[in-house]
Parts: sequence; C-alpha cells; structure tokens
Amino acid sequence: MTPKLRRVLTRVQKPARYTGGEYNQIVKDKAAVDLRMAFCFPDTYEIGMSNLGLQILYGAINAEPGMWCERCFAPWGDMEEEMRREGIPLYALESADPLTAFDAIGFSLGYEMAYTSVLNMLDLAGLPVRSADRTALTPLVFAGGTSCVNPEPMADFMDLFVLGEGEELDVELLRLLRKAKQENWTKDEFLRRATDIPGVYVPRFYTPVYNGDGTLLRVDREAGAPETVRKRIVEDLDTAFFPTKCVVPSTEIVHDRVVLEVMRGCIRGCRFCQAGFVYRPVRRHSTDFLLEKAKAALLNSGYEEITLSSLSTSDFKGLPELADGLLDWCEPRKISLSLPSLRADNFSMALMERVQKVRKTGLTFAPEAGSQRLRDVINKNVTEEDVLHSCRVAFEGGWNTLKLYFMLGLPTETDEDVVAIARLAEKVLHTWREYASNKSRGVKITVSTSMFVPKPHTPFEWESQVTVEEYLRRVKLLRESIHSRSIVYNWHEPHVSLIEAALSRGDRRMGAVLEEVWRNGGRLDSWSDYFSMDRWLAAFETRGLDPAFYAFRERGEDELFPWDVIDVGVRKSYLARERREAYAGRVTPDCRVKCMGCGANCLLERRACDE
Ligand code: SF4
Repeated sequence: MTPKLRRVLTRVQKPARYTGGEYNQIVKDKAAVDLRMAFCFPDTYEIGMSNLGLQILYGAINAEPGMWCERCFAPWGDMEEEMRREGIPLYALESADPLTAFDAIGFSLGYEMAYTSVLNMLDLAGLPVRSADRTALTPLVFAGGTSCVNPEPMADFMDLFVLGEGEELDVELLRLLRKAKQENWTKDEFLRRATDIPGVYVPRFYTPVYNGDGTLLRVDREAGAPETVRKRIVEDLDTAFFPTKCVVPSTEIVHDRVVLEVMRGCIRGCRFCQAGFVYRPVRRHSTDFLLEKAKAALLNSGYEEITLSSLSTSDFKGLPELADGLLDWCEPRKISLSLPSLRADNFSMALMERVQKVRKTGLTFAPEAGSQRLRDVINKNVTEEDVLHSCRVAFEGGWNTLKLYFMLGLPTETDEDVVAIARLAEKVLHTWREYASNKSRGVKITVSTSMFVPKPHTPFEWESQVTVEEYLRRVKLLRESIHSRSIVYNWHEPHVSLIEAALSRGDRRMGAVLEEVWRNGGRLDSWSDYFSMDRWLAAFETRGLDPAFYAFRERGEDELFPWDVIDVGVRKSYLARERREAYAGRVTPDCRVKCMGCGANCLLERRACDE
C-alpha cells in the first residue's frame, strides 16, 4: 500500500473496505504466475463479500497453477472522490496493483442496477469504458452472472460474456488467454478463438438490425460466430470446486458466516422467477459431501455460524439428515445453523425448533399473491391453508414476528387480488390470536410489496409491467384495506423497478443510455443515496429512447428478443406454453412430480434430450 493510499484511508468511512489483508485471502508471488485476473464486483465490499459466486470463483481460479485471482469492489462515493483527487487508480485488494496491471478483469453482474458502477469502475481504473476503444489483448474485460442472460445492454462495454456457471468456464477462458499472451495473438484473434469455448458470447460478432417500430428485425452475425450461445453448467456438483477456505472479512458484511450451497436450480417453476428458469436443471450435492465440506469451511474460517443456501433450501431432499448431522457437530462447538428461503408449504417446525434453539428470529414467507387465483397464475404452488398452517405451527412454537412478501402488478392482477393480500394478512393475525403459545409479547406481521418486473427467459418475458402510477394506486388500495395495527405495510419504491424492467429486457441501444447516466454521475444505482430517476429519464430522452417501450409494452408471441441469442436450456416454446397455462389459471407440477420437458435436461450429458 502506498503512503498516498494510506493517507486517503484515514479520511474515508469504513476504510477496511479498501485494505485487503483479510484472513484466508490468497497472495501469490507475482513472478511465479503468468495470468492475473481481477474479480470485480460492481457494488460495495459488504455486498460483494457476501456473494457466494465470488467465493467460488476466487477459489476455483486460484486453484489453477500459474493463475492469481484478486478481488476488487466499487468504492463508496467518499473513497471515489479521494481516489480521483489523488490520482489513485482502481486497484485490487490483494496486491494493491492497479487494474491495468491485470490480464483479465471479470465483472460479476447479478443485478441490472449495478451496470453504471461497471462503467465507473473501468473509468476509475483508467480504462476506456467501451470495448471497441480497448484494442490491446489485455486487460480482457468480461462479465458473467445472472443478469447476463440478456447481455445486450452491456454489449458495448464488455469484450465477451461467460454464460452460466463459471467454475470450469472461467478457467478454460483464462487458459486460452494465457496461450494468446504467450503466442502474441491480437485481441481479435483471441476473441474469435474464444467463441469456440461453449458458453462464451462475443457481442462484437453480432449486429442487431431494428424494425421501424424499434423492435428487433434480425441479428447479423459474422462467419464462425455461433447462432446461439448455450449456458454452461457443472454437471456433477460434488466433483466441481467447492470453497472451504473463504476469505473472512475484517469488517462487518451483509452475510458474515459460512454459506453452504446445497443444490443448484429449483424444482418449482414459479412463472415470474428468473432464477427458477435460468438455473435449471436441479443438481444437488450429496449429504456426506456437504457434511465434510461444512466442517472444513468452519474450521478454516473460525466462523460461529453456518447457513444452508440454494434457491429453495426446504426442497433439498435429505435436509433433516443434513441438519441433524451438522447440528451434532456444531452444537458442542457453539456454532449455530440457519436456514433461509423456507417455503410455506413444506415448513417444518421440528426442523426450525432445532436450528433456532437460541434465538427465535423472525420468519419470512413469500406467498407472492393474495388470492389463490393469482397464485395459480404465477404457479406459486402454495395454498392459503399451507400459509396458515405454517403460521399456526410457528405461533404455537413461540414465534411472534412474521414477514409476508408479495408482488403487485403481476399479470392478470385485479383489485380483488390486491385486497386479498390484506385479507390473508388478517387471517394470519387471526391464526396468531387463536394459536399463539405466548400472547403477552404481542405480534407483528409485516406485509411487503414490490413491483413485478418481467424478466427474460421466464413465461412472463412477453408481459408489460404496470406503470408507476398504477402500482401506487394499488399500494393505496392495499394500504386502505389493512385495518389492524398489528399489520405493518411496507412497499418498495417503484422507480428503480421501472429502470430494472427497462434494462433487463433492453437491447444494445441501451448502452448509450447507460453511458449517458454514468457520465452524468450515475453509479451505485441500487442505493437510494445514489439513484436518481431524473437522471435516468434525462438520459433516455437524450439518447432518443423511451423506457416505456421496454417496460410497459406487451410483446407479440413471435417477437424476436435481444436475449434470444442466449440459450439457457429452457426453450422459448416451453415458456410460451407456460404463459398460456398462466392465463388459463392452470398450475404446472414441480420437476420432482413430473418432468414437463422444458429442455433444461438437455444440458446434462448423461440425460437423453427430448428435442
Ligand atoms: S420456489 Fe419459486 S420463487 Fe423460489 S426459487 Fe423456486 S421458482 Fe423461484
């Protein structure tokens, strides 16, 4: 660390965000490595360090001989100001070397509102933000992560995208880059060869052509570029890299504990849920493997808490055995176990009692819609009886704080559906009155609503979002329908959801808007301290685009989408069928009950493809 940086750190909030040096960070001899990568997270240290993907890829790349992967996060505004004033370029935490010293800069893009921070980080590193302006082979700038299932809004800024799970893919890409360096390839030569790696999308080889009405007419592609790019998955999770030596932060972060990933994918198929479709097919770790890795991760980190993680952990077969095995080992060592993401239809009190012996933290259920009709539309296979039964056992068990999550603006939603949220919350309150084992402490039921955002690669990718005014009208209706003081109602700010909707289904022209927003001060846009709707609207106007075209437009069933170039395994025809089922109010059974032939199993080599 330079004396200048040392001085700057005395003037900013939370300097531990910028120092590195944490327990288990990986430091290698620069002279002994021939490929250096900076793993960049376009949000704060606290958010980035809580990201399981970071811990996995950091470990997987560093396990490769000759490669050194370091970490870099977006600085908060005070630090950015100091860095720009003092001429300190963005640097990686382990070596404090500037990003320009690296061969590869990989961004994790899990959320569209982080896009402006990517541009800001590149600029702070002293690099041109546009891929076309970075002509040298290195540093190669690429991105992966959930929001890359529609890479087009970021296409002008990235040299390439890695689609799907990165443990194997990222290492293959970096090996090719090492070869390119050794053999002095040009950037163009490298990018052409990179398209041979399954899961790599190089946007410069694809040119979108638009109709007069702004929709996509076709995508011209250069010779040799694949027609579609299929996401990568790790077929056998137990043989892939599993992090057991996570970097332990020296300052408080969002999730400060061992995170044990038990499975990938979700069996359910809720029709609004992008993760539920793009992480298919479901793969799980074996219980013995998890027990062994959990012990190693706890011993290597000194953490006193472990949490089980996946999209829907209560669907993990063998959860009771895993929890029992873990608790037998953890309890004598005073290590606690927590279980997030429980579903109301398979909530087990026995399990909850065992894992939350010490403190009865609040419970959270996400029925998502108030009426059964709308829950069937969205394929949330949870009934009112399920919710009330789970609440009853929780109240009998002594819980008295409950959060219920819903969305407003779901396709086909009516005012009756909105009011049904209030009625369901009242029934939950009634259940507490009837069954609570301890009424003296009172009860707090929190109802939260967010604005539905239609996402690519889901059955609702054709849908319009409701306008901000309409969302607020429904918020008012719900607020006026809640009559008890024990029910607290919170609603999420809708403007961010509108921009998220425009970006998530945006095309390549959106890059100009992103650059405009960033040049006018936009960064860390998921933080209310930084988000400015006026700045976004002005940028859309300057660039001649309308957010309503992206957010509030119902698409025709045969419209070509910017993200159709990406194949996540689930076929578009399947999504269209699911959408028709939604409008018919018919539910689709989960993958464990019956395989509905969505196409995702084609990603598994050992399974026959039904195409
Ligand atoms: S249960 Fe539904 S909402 Fe939750 S991850 Fe699975 S598909 Fe998504």
